This record gives sequence, C-alpha cells and structure tokens, in this order.
Amino acid sequence: MSSAPSTNDGVFDEFLEDRGHETDIVRWERSYNKKKCPECGGLHDESARECGVCGWTPAA
Ligand SMILES: [Zn+2]
Repeated sequence: MSSAPSTNDGVFDEFLEDRGHETDIVRWERSYNKKKCPECGGLHDESARECGVCGWTPAA
C-alpha cells in the first residue's frame, strides 16, 4: 500500500518481452522431407500439426 504497484508490473512486463525476443520459437526439425519432432524425434508428414507420438506441438 505504500509503494506504487505499477513499478513491479512494468518490470515483469519487460522481463516477459525480453524472454519473447531471446527465446527461439520451437519448431519442427527437418529430416529428409519429413517434419521431425524435437521432443521425441518422431517423423511426420508435412501436414502434421502435432506429434502423434508424444503429443508435442510447435509453440505458436
Ligand atoms: Zn514427439
């Protein structure tokens, strides 16, 4: 109640933004003409949206 709470909120927002810029989006790896799951290494067709083996999906 004594200090402005918006200060901490601002720092937190910056922290999230920094992470967003520095953290690479995890995508499908490639193996031959297949998508390869970076989690389990499962191979999938180009049309695959998620790994049918472990359920991994690319980060939006
Ligand atoms: Zn997988």
